[in-house]
Amino acid sequence: MIVRVLGSAAGGGVPQWNCGCAHCAAARRGEAPRRSQSSLALSPDGERWWLVNVSPDLATQIEEFAPLQPRSLRGSPIVGMLLTDANVDHLGGLAVVRQTHPAGFTVYSSDVVRRIATAQMAFATFEEPPHRWLSVEEPFTLGEGALRVTPLAVPGLTPGYAGRERTRGAVLAYRVEEPASGASVLFAPVFAAVDQTLAAAIANADVAFLDGSFWSDDEMENAGLDIKHARSLGHLPIGGADGSLAAIAGLHNRRIYTHVNNSNPLLDPASAASQTLREAGAELAFDGMELRFTSPVHA
Ligand SMILES: [Zn+2]
Ligand SMILES: [Zn+2]
Repeated sequence: MIVRVLGSAAGGGVPQWNCGCAHCAAARRGEAPRRSQSSLALSPDGERWWLVNVSPDLATQIEEFAPLQPRSLRGSPIVGMLLTDANVDHLGGLAVVRQTHPAGFTVYSSDVVRRIATAQMAFATFEEPPHRWLSVEEPFTLGEGALRVTPLAVPGLTPGYAGRERTRGAVLAYRVEEPASGASVLFAPVFAAVDQTLAAAIANADVAFLDGSFWSDDEMENAGLDIKHARSLGHLPIGGADGSLAAIAGLHNRRIYTHVNNSNPLLDPASAASQTLREAGAELAFDGMELRFTSPVHA
């Protein structure tokens, strides 16, 4: 299995078009890496690809990663998409790939997310042939059993445009297992809390991609960027006694934070937050990060 981070930033990216903060300015000057909006691509064989979330930056992300580019006059190696939630930065890229695609895409999401998203005109077409949009609650397979996927309902909110309601199914995480290699990867780029189910899923994965939106609840307000707080947006902060890093302390698997907001001090490797993250043995994702599981990882 190949896992490729296409984008590692939260909504807006780094730099964000309307933001002149120190992190965005550093990215503009080329002193820090640019980050497109969060999405991952996964494949059992390098031929067929599934996306976890579909960012509005998808067209650029495809051009920067050759395996996602067409191999014939018209077509795409992208077979389908798994959506964690209905936020525009996680499915807005569907509008980018709306051109005729003979094979169609299979979109997977919770039923709540399917209903919220397909109520929007731009996304309704993905419920109709040649596409399919499946509501998933139980485990399913991709690529004739090459990958086994278990959707997990995690604490979270519906998007702002759908009322920010705390509803079961508003946010899913996906555990993906590859029987051939024995590898297991958890994709949880959004969650409002680490409940028992999520904590166990993080501990039981070889690699866990986690919600890295915000280091602290009030960092946007403190930086003068926005009065919104992380928790009110449905994101559990990473730092602090009640943050996600403390909730998963003591693990030795790979824990990779992604979906990083441009206010997050982790974007500065010299920050105290970055030091704390390193000491905890956790990592920060970056655009172009790639994991490969070829031989059995469990000897
Ligand atoms: Zn997002
Ligand atoms: Zn900024």
